[in-house]
Amino acid sequence: MSEKKLRLEIVTPQRKVFSEDVNFLVAPGSQGELGILPDHAPLITSLNIGIMRIEQDGQKFKVVVSGGFMEVRNNRTTVLANSAERAEEIDVARAQAAKKRAEERLASRSPEIDILRAELALRRALMRLKAAGSE
Ligand code: ATP
Repeated sequence: MSEKKLRLEIVTPQRKVFSEDVNFLVAPGSQGELGILPDHAPLITSLNIGIMRIEQDGQKFKVVVSGGFMEVRNNRTTVLANSAERAEEIDVARAQAAKKRAEERLASRSPEIDILRAELALRRALMRLKAAGSE
């Protein structure tokens, strides 16, 4: 008998990034990491910019999510993210360029810089590099 699973759907305004039955996932909840197994109690939470770790039949996947919401209900986990990429989809050179841009903006200390925006861009880039294994 195969192990019990839960459905995971990760969608962004642009596309469906992931839609499969999985054994286990860990999500970057805004209050901390959240592990979700089949038959988890219902919940709704906001997400941080971070990495979702997914296990499916002994295989492991990583998906970077840049904030959003997650709902768990009836063995179905739905993630609505601002953007999301599977680790293997990540363009490392683009993330490195984004990291460099954000770091330069933060270092410039110019009054025209939106610090929060630069910090969020930096965190997205760092998480993409981490998930792609190119930290
Ligand atoms: P950039 O400055 O490089 O655009 P960003 O963090 O501002 O990075 P987002 O606004 O989070 O980009 O994402 C815009 C779109 O580009 C999304 O569809 C996202 O999945 C995609 N994307 C962003 N960076 C990468 C990357 N390094 N590899 C693959 N897709 C990416």
